[in-house]
Amino acid sequence: MEYDYIVIGAGSAGLSFAALMEKKGHSVAVLEAHSIPGGCSSYFERDGFIFDAGATTLSGLKKGRPLYNLIQQLDLKLELTNIDPGIVSILPSQTVNRFKNFDQWMEELKTKFPDIDHRTLWTKFLKIENQGWNLSTTFKNIPLRSFKKISSFFNFKTLGAVGTLPALLKSVDQELISQKITDPEYLSMIDEMLFITAQNNRQDTPLLMGSMGLGYPDDTFYATGGMKAFAHAIASNCSNIFYRNKVQKIVPVVSGFEVVTNKGVYKSKKLISTIPLWNHVDLFEDQKIKDFYLNYPALNPDECWSAFMIYLTIPTDRNRSSLYYQIHTDVIPHCDTRSFFVSLSHPDDKVRSINGRQVVTISTHTRANVWLGLEIDDYKKKKAESAEYILNILKDKFQLQDNDLQNIVTGSPKSFIKYTNRYNGLVGGIPHSLKRNPMDFLIAKSPIENFYMLGDTQFPGQGIAAVVLGAQNLTEYLTN
Ligand SMILES: Cc1cc2nc3c(=O)[nH]c(=O)nc-3n(C[C@H](O)[C@H](O)[C@H](O)COP(=O)(O)OP(=O)(O)OC[C@H]3O[C@@H](n4cnc5c(N)ncnc54)[C@H](O)[C@@H]3O)c2cc1C
Repeated sequence: MEYDYIVIGAGSAGLSFAALMEKKGHSVAVLEAHSIPGGCSSYFERDGFIFDAGATTLSGLKKGRPLYNLIQQLDLKLELTNIDPGIVSILPSQTVNRFKNFDQWMEELKTKFPDIDHRTLWTKFLKIENQGWNLSTTFKNIPLRSFKKISSFFNFKTLGAVGTLPALLKSVDQELISQKITDPEYLSMIDEMLFITAQNNRQDTPLLMGSMGLGYPDDTFYATGGMKAFAHAIASNCSNIFYRNKVQKIVPVVSGFEVVTNKGVYKSKKLISTIPLWNHVDLFEDQKIKDFYLNYPALNPDECWSAFMIYLTIPTDRNRSSLYYQIHTDVIPHCDTRSFFVSLSHPDDKVRSINGRQVVTISTHTRANVWLGLEIDDYKKKKAESAEYILNILKDKFQLQDNDLQNIVTGSPKSFIKYTNRYNGLVGGIPHSLKRNPMDFLIAKSPIENFYMLGDTQFPGQGIAAVVLGAQNLTEYLTN
């Protein structure tokens, strides 16, 4: 059968695009290598518990933002709970609650860091964050493929958005310095929050993306059933998802594309790929196309992260103030940032939090090359060292005993290769960096006619909200 569109990958980007296009009346097939949907926002089931495998939080749910729009567009049946505080930073000497309400957040910061003018700083972050969302929903039709699109690009809204561009050229750190902020614990709190949103530190993260990253915890939601519920809610709008179909070759033909998987050949007029940029090099035979991906300006994989993961269950405790914690530490063995992120299932989530226990996903940044190509004993030893270090701190901060920690599983870049096929297990997209030309960031072009790319290594970038926005923008582009 020939489809209007084939989508490679049933992650958040691919599912959203496929569901939106099918709703508009197009025939769409999704080819997915794994046996379940979700990709980096997927899940696995073990011992009766449902673990979030990568992503755990949903944001971009404020009115007009991508997930709010997606839920409306597809009428998704999701039970969402706003988590407030959206993140709790457990610093070496104190704990800081990131409240949703701006005044409450300012009060919290004033109590914890009395010598800083928080209001001036965070008012600026908030203003730039709003401008950033305006910018990313305005710059839709990238690349500009026709004269009509180019002329429609220069309108009043676009010119307004262009006013935010200076924040692309300045670092978060420059802003902090200009506001004379030097408290090391405060700076470290900002740094670690930037690592989980912009994937970079304050010195190299552009103020624009940094402000959007620092703003996300006031828009943080938990989906009952976790990422399983989220992925399946979108997947239920897609009639043709072919699981266990790993795409091995893409052949451009006169009528469109032939896509070869381990199970067969699928044909379509147009093709959308949501897999990381690096993965495309091996899918094409034409050297010119291979070269395009090899020379893509954003391609340097050495600058990108993978993740070290721990999954476990702990006894339910309703007195915890949030579901999301960032615990600051010294350097974690074989990992890179100075914190780890702890996500809990909601105590009232009867699908996941069963038998009086909450399900926990812990993640931290690591470099893929630390884990790849090791002898099995060395690999296991490294995993055990990282896990032991993290779990000892978790026990201390959450006041848990050894036997409270059960159902423990660990994951590394090798796990992401196995379950998501992502090149070298790199996840989280391409770090936002001042070293990158802003135009490279904006231009999501492909070398082939009728072949489009989406996902977290493409504009508008990282996180579920961003890849969904990419899918919404492309849907609009292709149907208008
Ligand atoms: C540890 C961790 C924590 C995170 N936390 C959050 C969070 O809390 N909130 C948030 O918003 N974001 C979070 N993110 C980021 C978020 O998960 C990703 O940005 C998003 O899920 C990326 O979606 P995607 O569709 O672009 O790519 P993917 O999710 O990688 O989807 C690509 C899909 O393509 C499939 N595939 C790959 N190769 C092939 C092939 N050859 N043939 C067929 N199929 C193929 C894969 O199996 C996968 O299903 C987190 C990421 C990680 C790793």
